[in-house]
Amino acid sequence: MLNTADIPKLLKDAGLRVTPQREAILGFLIEHTKHATADEIYQSIHKTFPSISVSTVYNTIKHFAQVGLVKEITFGDNASRFDINVQPHHHLVCKKCGTLIDFYLEKPPSFALPPEASGFEIEDFHVEVKGICPACRESSRG
Ligand code: ZN
Ligand code: MN
Repeated sequence: MLNTADIPKLLKDAGLRVTPQREAILGFLIEHTKHATADEIYQSIHKTFPSISVSTVYNTIKHFAQVGLVKEITFGDNASRFDINVQPHHHLVCKKCGTLIDFYLEKPPSFALPPEASGFEIEDFHVEVKGICPACRESSRG
């Protein structure tokens, strides 16, 4: 598991200069939510850095995704979420609260891909399982 103490090394290993803003962005993903939108990150860190803009946060997190520090997850037209877990993994998606729960499958997947996949060069394999998380099921029971 990543720790906030690892942040300076993560940034340096990615070839990036360590700045308090960059540390705060990664720190938010490590400490609060592993899958956040750029806006959620902005809402949290602009309390500490009032002069930071949404677009700076957005550009910084996009840059982190390009250098492999985070993984960008897109679901249809929804805002991208940025995942601090860059290991190959999949997600359970709660339709009610939007929470994402990581899960792992063996790699390569044990099932055979259909004939339609022949000749297709697979770069990424992501399973998205939609449903209602335990906390939401509990609260709807009342
Ligand atoms: Zn939920
Ligand atoms: Mn994840």
